[in-house]
Amino acid sequence: MRAINFSANFYIIFGGKLFSHEKGRSKISHLTGGGVDCLKLAGTFGTPLYVFDTGIIKSRCGELRETFLNRWDNTRVRYAGKAFLIRAMAKLIADEGIGLDVVSEGELYTALSAGFPPERIEMNGNAKSLREIDYAVRSGVGRIIVDHPDEIGIIESCAKEAGRVQKIMIRVAPGVDAHTHKYIATGSTDSKFGVPADSREGSMLTEAIRFARTCEHVSMRGLHFHVGSQLFDTDDYTKSIEKIIELMKSLKDSLNFTTHELNMGGGFGAVINPAIPAMKSEFYTEPMMKALHEGCAKYGIEIPRVILEPGRWFVSEAGITLYTVENVRELPGITYIAVNGGMSDNPRYALYQAEYNAVKADDIDGEIWHPESGGKVSIVGKCCESGDILIDDAEIQRVKAGDIIALYNTGAYTFSMSSNYNCLMRPAVVFVENGEARVVAERQTLEDIIRGQVI
Ligand SMILES: *Cc1c(COP(=O)(O)O)cnc(C)c1O
Repeated sequence: MRAINFSANFYIIFGGKLFSHEKGRSKISHLTGGGVDCLKLAGTFGTPLYVFDTGIIKSRCGELRETFLNRWDNTRVRYAGKAFLIRAMAKLIADEGIGLDVVSEGELYTALSAGFPPERIEMNGNAKSLREIDYAVRSGVGRIIVDHPDEIGIIESCAKEAGRVQKIMIRVAPGVDAHTHKYIATGSTDSKFGVPADSREGSMLTEAIRFARTCEHVSMRGLHFHVGSQLFDTDDYTKSIEKIIELMKSLKDSLNFTTHELNMGGGFGAVINPAIPAMKSEFYTEPMMKALHEGCAKYGIEIPRVILEPGRWFVSEAGITLYTVENVRELPGITYIAVNGGMSDNPRYALYQAEYNAVKADDIDGEIWHPESGGKVSIVGKCCESGDILIDDAEIQRVKAGDIIALYNTGAYTFSMSSNYNCLMRPAVVFVENGEARVVAERQTLEDIIRGQVI
């Protein structure tokens, strides 16, 4: 791993944002961490480059510890690794005392290879293979979140073989349509995820619970729901919680089943504009816990352990992607800034029109560019798709070929969703903290592109 020290900064990344910083006359007197010249980063490590300010990720962990874990008894937090998982990230999360949610053998392997304590790992996934279930059980993961009832019998036989009792929860679809893009809404009853929240005799859910309770090597602990991602109000959560409490009550009455644990999923929103303050975890957790406590009191049922599993909220705002401008194409009505990456390192606009903000890395306070030809400025990638857009209508300073631009808040679902489309090589990941930068995932090479291929 390579560590370099950048102490004399001009343009630094701090708190997930760029600040101009004049040598010797710092505009920021409270600089305590981060602090890395991003032009130097681009020069040293090349572009595109994923840059993470680990100070932000740690402060998110601290925030949840303070305002959730320490405030409410019997609570747990599991970082949803799908947002961004590499070994260094797994290590960071483990060191912060937070757990991890994985959804595949690859994610589990990554975490275990970084020494992540298996009992703090839970496995989700709507189509787990036998191999994945067996691996999870043998590894001693804390919970398997059953998404389809067929998994229960498989878990039973794997756990029997491994000589373990595997704790499970069942994911239910609460029947709440989240206020978000339909591709990241997951809570409706016709979702591909989970079992409908239906406690009627003979329903999928009651049959699954009945069966789980006959399994000697399965311990059925409770329920899980996840309504969707990028949520900016709490109605979807509180509505779901109310429905789930009714469900818990009727499962208690009909099956004498006690929900010891309730996993409320993730979905906390991440802002895209660095000028807007980040969402506080309390904004979500206070109404959620209030709804839970009130509901449980109303129905006279015991308060379950609560588990949260946000992903994006931990990492989105900690990440910046640096690109080099390859060319600028001024057409009547539209100007394209084409960069040396695109949907291969960040497919989120192409997938669901995710929004971003960008700046010219060495002119962050400069005037916004309004091309003479009129119309909008689009930042596009180099992939052979017209949908390969990073920002459709960007507000950015005037740039030319060779300039470095920075996309803010790209920490979540970028590296983890990256591909080798057009045989592009996956960019490197750099962690910055206290003026130091280190590569935690190397840039792919041409050999990586053809690895394992034969003629
Ligand atoms: C995607 C997902 C999460 C994390 O979602 P974020 O929006 O990144 O917080 C948590 N739990 C489950 C089951 C998920 O599918």
